[in-house]
Parts: sequence; structure tokens; C-alpha cells
Amino acid sequence: KARVFKFGDKTADGNSTMKNLLGGKGANLAEMSSIGIPVPPGFTITTEVCTEFNLLGKDAVVELIKDEVEASIANIESLMGTTFGDKENPLLVSVRSGARVSMPGMMDTVLNLGLNDDAVIGLANKTGNERFAWDSYRRFIQMYGGVVLGMKPEAKEDIDPFEEIMEHLKYKRRITLDTEFTIQDLKDLVYDFKDAVKKRTGHDFPTNPWDQLWGAVIAVFNSWNGDRAMYYRKMHGYPANWGTAVNVQAMVYGNMGKNSGTGVCFTRDAGTGEDVFNGEYLINAQGEDVVAGVRTPQQITKLGSQRWAELAKIEEQDRIENYPSLEELMPSIYKELNGYQEKLENHYKDMQDMEFTIQDGKLWILQTRNGKRTGAAMVKIAMDMFKQGLITEKEAVLRIEPSKLDELLHPVFDAKALKEAHVIAQGLPASPGAATGQIVFFADEANKYKYTILVRIETSPEDLEGMNIARGILTARGGMTSHAAVVARGMGKCCISGAGALKINYKTRTLKVGDKVYHEGDWISLNGSTGNIIEGKVATSEPELSGEFAEIMTLSDKYATMQVRTNADTPNDAKVARNFGAQGIGLTRTEHMFFEVDRIKAMREMILSDTLIGRQNALEKLLPMQRSDFEGIFEAMQGLPVTVRLLDPPLHEFVPHQLETQRSLAEEMHITLEAVKIKVAELEEFNPMLGHRGCRLGITYPEITEMQARAIIEAALNLKERGIVAKPEIMIPLIGTLTEFESQEAVIRETANKVFKERNDTVEYAVGTMIEIPRATLIADKIAKYADFFSFGTNDLTQMAFGYSRDDASKFLPIYIEKGILTADPFEVLDQEGVGQLVEMATERGRNTKPKLKVGICGEHGGDPSSVEFCYRTGLNYVSCSPYRVPIARLASAQAAI
Ligand code: PEP
Ligand code: MG
Repeated sequence: KARVFKFGDKTADGNSTMKNLLGGKGANLAEMSSIGIPVPPGFTITTEVCTEFNLLGKDAVVELIKDEVEASIANIESLMGTTFGDKENPLLVSVRSGARVSMPGMMDTVLNLGLNDDAVIGLANKTGNERFAWDSYRRFIQMYGGVVLGMKPEAKEDIDPFEEIMEHLKYKRRITLDTEFTIQDLKDLVYDFKDAVKKRTGHDFPTNPWDQLWGAVIAVFNSWNGDRAMYYRKMHGYPANWGTAVNVQAMVYGNMGKNSGTGVCFTRDAGTGEDVFNGEYLINAQGEDVVAGVRTPQQITKLGSQRWAELAKIEEQDRIENYPSLEELMPSIYKELNGYQEKLENHYKDMQDMEFTIQDGKLWILQTRNGKRTGAAMVKIAMDMFKQGLITEKEAVLRIEPSKLDELLHPVFDAKALKEAHVIAQGLPASPGAATGQIVFFADEANKYKYTILVRIETSPEDLEGMNIARGILTARGGMTSHAAVVARGMGKCCISGAGALKINYKTRTLKVGDKVYHEGDWISLNGSTGNIIEGKVATSEPELSGEFAEIMTLSDKYATMQVRTNADTPNDAKVARNFGAQGIGLTRTEHMFFEVDRIKAMREMILSDTLIGRQNALEKLLPMQRSDFEGIFEAMQGLPVTVRLLDPPLHEFVPHQLETQRSLAEEMHITLEAVKIKVAELEEFNPMLGHRGCRLGITYPEITEMQARAIIEAALNLKERGIVAKPEIMIPLIGTLTEFESQEAVIRETANKVFKERNDTVEYAVGTMIEIPRATLIADKIAKYADFFSFGTNDLTQMAFGYSRDDASKFLPIYIEKGILTADPFEVLDQEGVGQLVEMATERGRNTKPKLKVGICGEHGGDPSSVEFCYRTGLNYVSCSPYRVPIARLASAQAAI
């Protein structure tokens, strides 16, 4: 059986289907070569040899493959016209590991293998660059010494032994940069490096290229059983008998004069997705020169070059003389390259990111891979490729990374401006987008400047209006489901939460980060997609919902079977979500409606009343307001189902906490300030999220449930009169026992019947429940007897299943993730292993009782792609998420179904 597979000269022994035998890299090199792409010739030693090595040891394995390796080297020599270790024209190779999946912890690349005191002279002559040759030699010993000979720091405090020698020489020569070394310095370094190897290992540095090669091959095999690689395998469950392949490939040089060069290119525009070949190159340069930015790289195509010149304000004549495109400078090389890029894209059926080198008039393709791209480019490329017949409809949908769609849904920072930005701290990327504004510390001052960033230790429902006005929200505390985060996502507003490094002082109106103090009115910018907090202004641009974006959504809906609803609290949210394709509302948090100025008063009046009459009076005032809100929402949804949840948060959140507001409330209600204070204190709870909230409110004060049920039913009837269908689904929060549900259901149905009688008309409505307390999941079969639908409140379910307070978890979750106790924030990504079981069980038990039970999810997880996939597998009817995540969930739902 063959143990070594050759490639080069547009042929290959292997191909891309042989990833298990040749490793990913080897299989791809073979594939490129066999479809006629000129890759530098080389060979791959199979993964099976690695396994043999583990069994038989070094000597036996070298014996096994010696003949094949020698023949393969001879093959490279004849194709390249060079000789291994030659003083005139040396063959130099690279050696790389390559398992079937790319794996950190394996041996790094060794470049320029084959260099020794003879070959370095050959390399100098060949490139006409003695400095380059000696620098390559110096680097080779360093690389080989490190990865093959184990020349690593001895203690973790030590620096790299070779770096130490270089530092010493720099100190002696009073220089600071590597580039300041003279050729003699480099020669001295080579000598000193070899000396260090001898001292440390007891052996001379191998100067025979064959010894070097075998050393490197065995080092690759050994690295398969290195600690890091083993740890990584264990983590991913990859078996040890996979082994790694070894790739040996001829080095080619782009710095051999005017006829040489190197570059990077893309088959399509990675920024916009436009179907134009593009890229950059440099004449007489090495790979890293193109990206290092020392010289100005030139454009590959003439079109690209002209566009570039326009931006750089360079005259056409100047451009042609000094910055010609490859197309103009080397037309035949360009033509060849253009042919390969077309071929590779057609072959891999995806945008390719390629590296190439021209060595003395001969073009080599060093690498190709699927190129990274922006969200906009991702969408455009997928749709274009579908239209061009390169990929199928389903493939186009699967090409979209759901979470990357976010970029298309929020204002974005200008990429260029972002590069120069000064990041002062980082928090959680709670709600994506870009915001620039002047700092304010109080919600009621959010309109103090034209553009503001509301900076708070944390936000409360009282801050809602201010949050709506501000450009962005920044909090020092709170996690991904904190008030600020949830509300901001719903608004599609940029928000960074839990930025622990911020010291906020409301009294002095300052924000301190490290030693630096920022004052009210200072400009800052938030990158809600990364969590970066930036000093000063950064330019933003509005997102464009391009045609392709709409098209990909239409395709998604064709395949999605699970529906996507939205969490919306206002008619405006509902409209935004409708435009994004929401198929209903899965959660209206009615409490958010109570925070507008005139409503909060009535709400507070109700809360502070000691008597039923007092409460009813206040509720009387709230009723018309709620009713009109519901009408607005029902109207926006035009006959789609709307789930309205009864009042949920602890009442304490509604009462005023500042003395001033307390005083004015006392005046308004004709009671003493003292009475207000006492009531506020009474409502204080040790653990409000597990306290007097949810259905517990409706059970203590049935009149609240009554008012809300009436507002919902009356709104639906009013719309009916106007010829608009409304489908209310009334949802009871925080059910833990069947009796809780029964008691609230009775109030709702009695109220509805009363209204029907009064109006002499009826509408259809449903009564269902949130499933968000673990106990409710256990008795789901019983609850389903009475409930029309279930909606999983996975925010609370996660809180209660883990026992992590939603409001405090951000203090320790980052540490948990850093230490690997958890792999992700369970408030962001549904914990399928644990909380997921509760969801599965409740769904199954509920449907045992009522096979057609409608089941959805309305926790924050409804907009997370992996959680959406889980919901699909569990058989949920819909997921519900904030308006701006609707397209993401629609796509994730389609992908789950494909
Ligand atoms: C939940 O608990 O998942 C939920 C949707 O409700 P809230 O976040 O309002 O508690
Ligand atoms: Mg909840």
C-alpha cells in the first residue's frame, strides 16, 4: 500500500475526498494540483503512517517509507530543477502537519528546510539577496530548533532561548529592531544559535538536509501526542487513531527580482460581495510584505487599480507608471491567474481567498480557502451564486450564518473609522449596533444633547423613555438578560451591559475607567456587536436592506416549518417585526406600557392604594390606555396571533425611589411623604425575581387581571367593529401549580363573558400559560388539560433551573466561562443538556394530554440560532424573539428544517 502521495505538475496521487488518509491540507493540495492548478510540488505522508509510528517507533517507520520519500524528493527536484542541499541551486521545502480537521496544538510550520552553510550561499545567489538568505537561515534554525529540537523556554518566566541571543546582540550593538542587523550580525546569530543548540541538546544542529527532513517528519508525528493536541482531541471527541499527515512542499520565492512577486486575491469582493476578481500584489516581495504595509501593494485588476487610484486621488498617468495593476504589468501571468481563480471558485463553489507567488516569471498558487466576508457580502454572494447556477436554493440558505445577519439590521460603524478608534473598556455585546453620543447619567436627561449615550450602573423600567431617546445604552452591571439588554434588543438599540471596569458616580456625574475620568457631555461610542467602548466619536453608516437580503428571506420561508413570532410591547415594535416577517407576537410584556409619564402615575396610585376601591379607581384610569395600546398592536398584526402576557414584574419596580419623585407623588395623591415612603419600603423584597411577581400579583389583586383581560377583549371587539380580525392569546405568567392557573383562568373567562354580554358580541381568544418554573414542567400534563397553549419563558426557567439570579449572574458567569465551567452564557444560548430537558419533557407531557397543544418559546433564546435549532428538534410550533432578531430566527428555522 502507498504511504506517500505525490502532487505537483498538475497531477496528484490523491484528491479532496481523501481527507481521512491525507489530512485536510494534503487532500486539498492534491485536489488543486489534479485540477490543473500549479501548486509547488510536494508530497503527503499519510495519517496511517502516524499510527504505524505510534506502534512501531521511529526507526521502523523511517525504514517503511524511506524509499517512497526519497523518490518523492527526487520528483520535486526534477520538477523544480533544484537539488536538496545544493550550493548552487538548493531545493528548500516547508514541512507542515495536517490532520483531517485543522487542530491547534499540532506542530507549526517549518519553512526553508534544507538550508545549511552551503545552501545558504545558493539561496543568496538565487535571490541576489544575501541578507535575505542569511535571515532565512537564521529563522530556519530558530523555527526548527523550537518545534523540532525542543529549544523552548525552560521555565515559564524565561524568554525564548533564541530571542535571548538576539536581544543580547541588539544590546551589544545598541540597536532595537531586527531590521537593523547587518549581514555579519545575521551570520553571527546563525553561529550562536547553533552553539546554543549544541549546549542545550548535546547534539550539533543537523546540517544534512535529510537529517533535517526526518527530524521534522518525526516531530510532526510526535506532536500528535503532545499535551495540547491530546487535550483538544479529548474536548472534541476525536479518536487518537486518526493520526496526522505530514506535508512536504517545495518553497518558492517572490523576491527573486523584477520578474517575481507575490499577492493575495479574492474571487469576489469580501466586503460587498460584488462579483469582481480583486486583490493586491507586490513585485519582488515575500508573502508577508503584502500584509505588513511597509510598501503600498498594487491592485491585481485594472478595474481595481483605477478604483483605488480614484480613492487615493492618483492621476491615471501616475498610476500607470508607478502603480500598475498586474493585469497591465504582466498580462500573461494575470490571464493565467484569472483562469485559476475562476476554476477554483467553480470547483469549490464558494468565494475563494487565494495566495500566489510569481517566481522568476512562473506563477504558483500557494493556497486557496473559502474567504471570510462581511454579512452583506455573505448574503449577496449566496444569492448571486444561486442565480448563477453554482449552488442550489437550499445551499444558498445554508450558506448564511444566521448571527451574521445582525450586521445588516443595525447601524454600523464605518470600518475605517473603527480601525483608528481608541477602545477604553469592554462589556457584554448586549444589543448589536453602533452608537455615538454624549454621556448622560440619568434617563430623564436623555434629550439633554442631540445624541446621547445613557450610562447607568443598571437600568430599571423607570428608564424606559430615556433609553428610547438615547442613541445607545451602557451599563456597568447586568448580563445578557438584564433589563437594559432585553429592552435595548427589543428596541434594536445598541447596548453594552455589564462593563465591570466602569466606575460610575452619579453625584459627580463622572465615569471612571482606570485613571481616566469622563464627564457628562463627553463623547463616547459603543460597538454593540463587540462590546467595545470607544473614546470620542466614530462615524456610523445606516444599514441597507439590500434586495438579496429580502430574497434570501423569501427562500428561507419556503423551507421553514417552525414559525417565527416576535416579542413586541408597542405598535411600533410590532410594525418593525412585521416588516422583518414576524408571523405573530409571542410575547407582549404589558408592564412596559405603564412607564409612560401619565400612566406611571395611575399605576403608582394603584400600587400605593390600601383599599380595593382605591385600586379599582386607579385601574379604571389605566383601562382605556391599555385598551388603546392593544388596539394598536392588534391592528399592526392584522389578524396574526398576538400573545399578551398579564402583569409580571414585582410591583416594587414601579414605585418611585427618588425623594423628589416621592414628594410629588405624595402631593398628587394627597397623602404624606411618610406614607409613600412606608409603602415603598413595604414593597421592598430580598429577592424580587423570586418574590411577589407573575401570577402571584393577579392572585393577590384579581382586579389587575380583570382590568387587563377586559382591555384585551374590548380592544379585540373594537377592531372587529372596524372589520379587523384580532387573535388575542392571553398568557398567565409564572405558573407553578395547577390551582394558580385555574384561579387566573377563571378571572379571565368570567371577565370575557361579562364583556361579551355587555357588547352583545364575541371574539375568539385563547388562555394559556408561560412555562418558566421548573415545577410547571413537571406537571405539564395537568396544566395542558386547561391551558390552550404553552410558551417557555426560558429566561426564568434558566434562572430557576440553574439557581443563577438573572440580575446577579453577570458577576460570576464570565469567570465560569473563562475557567471552562460553562461553555456559554446559559441566558444567551439555551442549555440543551439541562434546561433543554425540561423543555422537552414539558412539551411531551403537555402533548400527551392535548396532542395539538400549541407550544412556543419567548425567552431571549428564541433569537439564538442554536437554540432555534433545538426548538425545531423538540417540535415547538414557534419561537418568539425581539423584532431585530426575527430574520435571524427565520433563517435558523429554515436551516434546521433543511
Ligand atoms: C422569560 O422568563 O423567559 C420571559 C420571556 O419572561 P421575562 O423575561 O419577562 O421574565
Ligand atoms: Mg419570565
